[in-house]
Amino acid sequence: MWNHSSHLEAYFGIPASGGVLHTLNLRLHPAEIAYIANHAADRFLIVDDVLLPIYEQLKSKTNFERVIVVPFTGNPLPVGYENYEDFLKTAAGNFTYPGLDENEAVAMCFTSGTTGNSKGVLYSHRALILHSLVSTLDEAFGINHHAVVLPACPMFHANAWGIPFTAAMVGAKLVLPGPHLDAESLLELIEREKVSIALGVPTVWIGILAALEKHPGRRKFPSGLSAPCGGTAPPEGLIRSLDKHGIHITHLWGMTETTPIATTGQLKSTMSDWSDDKKYEVRAKQGLPAPFIEMRVRNEEGIAPWDGLTPGELEVRGPWVASAYYNSPENQDRWTPDGWFKTGDIATLDPEGYLKLVDRSKDLIKSGGEWISSVDLENALMGHPKVREAAVIAIPHSKWQERPLAVVVLNDGEAATSEELRDFLATRFAKWQLPDGFAFAKEIPRTSVGKFLKMRLREQYADWRWE
Ligand code: ADP
Repeated sequence: MWNHSSHLEAYFGIPASGGVLHTLNLRLHPAEIAYIANHAADRFLIVDDVLLPIYEQLKSKTNFERVIVVPFTGNPLPVGYENYEDFLKTAAGNFTYPGLDENEAVAMCFTSGTTGNSKGVLYSHRALILHSLVSTLDEAFGINHHAVVLPACPMFHANAWGIPFTAAMVGAKLVLPGPHLDAESLLELIEREKVSIALGVPTVWIGILAALEKHPGRRKFPSGLSAPCGGTAPPEGLIRSLDKHGIHITHLWGMTETTPIATTGQLKSTMSDWSDDKKYEVRAKQGLPAPFIEMRVRNEEGIAPWDGLTPGELEVRGPWVASAYYNSPENQDRWTPDGWFKTGDIATLDPEGYLKLVDRSKDLIKSGGEWISSVDLENALMGHPKVREAAVIAIPHSKWQERPLAVVVLNDGEAATSEELRDFLATRFAKWQLPDGFAFAKEIPRTSVGKFLKMRLREQYADWRWE
């Protein structure tokens, strides 16, 4: 389902009846959706009528006991399908809630498979409740009864960051955009419904910024709009530009395995008199751990110091961090013997305790025994006024093992040369860190949830030859 009220009903109706809510990512390939549904042993499917064409493609590969269709368009359903509204009418009104232990499963999500196969994560009632409580804090989303909340992140990905549960818990108004996720539709909804908090991945905000700059002054957010943003890192340039329009990005980091909120990028009170540049530098980091979340960075030498310099793999633990993948014992090595989850993200922690992601381990560029952070180069490039998007990947190199190639998408109507971009980066990076090549492209392939799909990009540029 898209984000709408029937989906929200399912978020509560399924767990309240003792079931497990398993959201399916409609943007995945039908064969992958079928694999995920089968792996999870899903029994019933609730699906929007507009999404039946997807179901038709996976029907022969799955074995649902019942398929219940939401009449989203209001049109009659094709024959043979059970209508969701008729199904609800069969309720007798004398329902008794099952007594459930707080550690029982309530929901399940699969990772979006950016760097490998999708894996299932089960959430307990306890995990979701604690996650929801913390999400109400100003240090996290700051969702209270007076908030008007628009999740532009899909309810089929990491439970829309838990927002449906948090908003319902405090009685905040939820604004659900259905399938209309383009910038203009979202802006229209934000203005009309007086949204105070809107959540989305950076791509959503990149689109919104472009729409705002196309028609300056058309839309205004006099009371400001809070925009928690994660999934991938919002570039510093985006945070700065949106501030000018009254949209305040708060950086979040999390994973399907962390329910998902693990860090938030708030400034500390002691930073209030810091320069704007220093504040933006902090806000572009992934942030401080949420209450009850512990983090450490580990490399071959042991636990890395909080010096903001020493990278290693980020490990986390806490009451809403998964302890296993569902039915997947072969992946148990993602947990240390003492129960920390190995995130696969390479990070540093600074003396203030802020997390900064350097890369995903599979995306790091290993050049002559040194690591080059693709993320740092991308963020810097995306701060160039002519650049809309940039992704940096490793290309095999005979002498250095790997060297960085930057794939760049320019803003409409702009032209730029490799030299110009390299000179721009040279003010901030050591010479050996600069990309050896720049490829200009129309777009960068993305995953179903808006992350750069570097696996695909590496395939696309597999034939790239250094001069
Ligand atoms: P998948 O692991 O398949 O991509 P998830 O949606 O669970 O599925 O993604 C979690 C990953 O997304 C993290 O491990 C991290 O690499 C990336 N990520 C999430 N938030 C951020 C962020 N704020 N900045 C950079 N990367 C992020």
